[in-house]
Amino acid sequence: MENYQIVIIGGGPAGLAAAAAAKKNGEDSILILERDNELGGILNQCIHNGFGLHTFKEELTGPEYAGRFIDEVKGLGIEYRLDTMVLSISRDKVVTAMNRRDGMFQVQAKAVILAMGCRERPRGALNIPGYRPAGIYTAGTAQRLVNIEGYMPGREVVILGSGDIGLIMARRMTFEGAKVKVVAELMPYSGGLKRNIVQCLDDFGIPLKLSHTVVDIEGKERVKGVTIAAVDGHGKPIPGTEEHYTCDTLLLSCGLIPENELSLSAGVELSPRHKGPVVNESLETNVDGIFACGNVLHVHDLVDYVSEEATTAGKNAAAYVRGETKTENGAPVELVPGEGIGYTVPETIRPEVMTDILTVRFRVRNVYKDHFISVYFDGERVQHRKKQIVAPGEMEQVILQKKDLLARPDMKKITICLEEA
Ligand SMILES: Cc1cc2nc3c(=O)[nH]c(=O)nc-3n(C[C@H](O)[C@H](O)[C@H](O)COP(=O)(O)OP(=O)(O)OC[C@H]3O[C@@H](n4cnc5c(N)ncnc54)[C@H](O)[C@@H]3O)c2cc1C
Repeated sequence: MENYQIVIIGGGPAGLAAAAAAKKNGEDSILILERDNELGGILNQCIHNGFGLHTFKEELTGPEYAGRFIDEVKGLGIEYRLDTMVLSISRDKVVTAMNRRDGMFQVQAKAVILAMGCRERPRGALNIPGYRPAGIYTAGTAQRLVNIEGYMPGREVVILGSGDIGLIMARRMTFEGAKVKVVAELMPYSGGLKRNIVQCLDDFGIPLKLSHTVVDIEGKERVKGVTIAAVDGHGKPIPGTEEHYTCDTLLLSCGLIPENELSLSAGVELSPRHKGPVVNESLETNVDGIFACGNVLHVHDLVDYVSEEATTAGKNAAAYVRGETKTENGAPVELVPGEGIGYTVPETIRPEVMTDILTVRFRVRNVYKDHFISVYFDGERVQHRKKQIVAPGEMEQVILQKKDLLARPDMKKITICLEEA
């Protein structure tokens, strides 16, 4: 059995930033395990620009953004193994993996950082009636086919779901000469960023039909057409509203789910709200010494925030290895998602361990106009910030200060909620 102080599962933006931060915080014994044949994660297929505005104050493509972190990891001399699939992680942090060179092997880690990213919700999870013809892809698969493999999935396209990958692919397929006929979205609001709706749909005259879903897929060998219909407030199709589109391709962009299998094998508790691990202020899960960051923790819309969060996880894993994150003080303060809030990350805070400034990230449940984002320390309102509009597609954040929490040693819970103006 090999031994490393920190083993990082996944060499995407989260794994890379976590590794660099751990190394810069004094830890030398680090191993990244990546199943793909190169580092960089999903960003390698995101060849459009718009990455890195926060981190580098520059507009980069996905591969350029990933390249900066790959160079840093290589420059710092951090060890990594490619084409290496991690199969399981035990509660006592034995990582079992395999590749062609080493076969099956095990590594005993002192700390593990989960950075496996997320996967797309497939057709099987969507209950769409119709046959199973060729021509139905998740938007991410189509992105890989076009941008990496050099194949064109189809010529006449309907997209179901308005998540960011679907919006980006509407523009990409148009650039490649396809006709994107419509984007249908079940919810009354888009799941993607406003800037992507403008730049990827509006600029190309592609209609977005909110509160619509696919009710039939036509074609046995290959998709021949798709019927969409308006839905009521419960997501049920309304008879008489059907519209038929002739097409050879249906792209699905209906949500991302954190890659949970390894987390579960290690006994990590998952949140029913954001579907990733429940974590404390250090991004440590319920399993001592197992940390999580990036899309495996909760699905992000901007990779800059992934890098920021992963840097925190890397620093904290290094501190854990040095034994600096233990605390004997009582129960942690609970973070509660109040009215209008879907989830928060983290879920608990140990004030004596937290950094001087802690970013709490969250998503709202619906589109709200002219509301305040409020923070309550037990019953006392301590923050009240007006937002013209908030939407589930855009991650929000509040900043908490350690001194404010330490000043209230008896505090039990912090509630984040929306309040009407
Ligand atoms: C299909 C798709 C397209 C996207 N397109 C965009 C976009 O256009 N613009 C944008 O801003 N954001 C996009 N995103 C969001 C983007 O994923 C995140 O911003 C960011 O890449 C997340 O970083 P990560 O490191 O958490 O995950 P990832 O980039 O997904 O990296 C996770 C890594 O873990 C590896 N891994 C997983 N399981 C194992 C295992 N068992 N063993 C070894 N390695 C493993 C994977 O191979 C992968 O390299 C996209 C996401 C997806 C899923």
